[in-house]
Amino acid sequence: MKKINIAIDGPSAAGKSTISKKVASELGYVHLDTGAMYRTCAYKALQLGLDLEDEEKICNALAGTKIELTPDGKVFLDGEDVSLDIRKDEISKAASLVSKLKRVREDLVARQQKIAENKGIIMDGRDIGTVVLKDAELKIYLTASAKARADRRYKQNQENGILDATYEEILADIEQRDYQDMHRENSPF
Ligand code: C5P
Repeated sequence: MKKINIAIDGPSAAGKSTISKKVASELGYVHLDTGAMYRTCAYKALQLGLDLEDEEKICNALAGTKIELTPDGKVFLDGEDVSLDIRKDEISKAASLVSKLKRVREDLVARQQKIAENKGIIMDGRDIGTVVLKDAELKIYLTASAKARADRRYKQNQENGILDATYEEILADIEQRDYQDMHRENSPF
């Protein structure tokens, strides 16, 4: 059967990755979690002690950075497994900040478009249907209330042993990131 590209956009913790993984395994497609790429960029910037608004330095660091996402959902930064580290609360906030930077977006969007060239991709994020894969044959918008999303994220964190934030903190963070992602200048969600 002819392969297509599928775009799934929606706010944090709505279930985009969970659904994408299931669909990818059902159809033999590749799932690309673009949020993980912004998280990995933020993780690297923090590791290097960079100011999260310093576009120049973050872009230079990103240019020489290898980000790999494996079919089993693992994320590697220059060969190091950062799958769990990038899910921490501190990184969620930092990812929302670096994702405001125009040149960071240009770099990551170019990588995402390259991966999708051969079709058979299910890509989730905020700007997939509108920017990254404008021509995707199927575009889905997936959302849920902030409370339902905070509930999901809290349970996921507990399962993964990430205990750095209470339910109330996660909810406040989700609401703040929703606002930040929707009101940024570059590719507002
Ligand atoms: O989806 P996830 O919560 O992992 O994304 C982390 C952050 O990365 C989001 O809050 C958003 O700021 C940013 N992001 C983005 N564009 C995407 C995917 C994620 O700006 N396509």
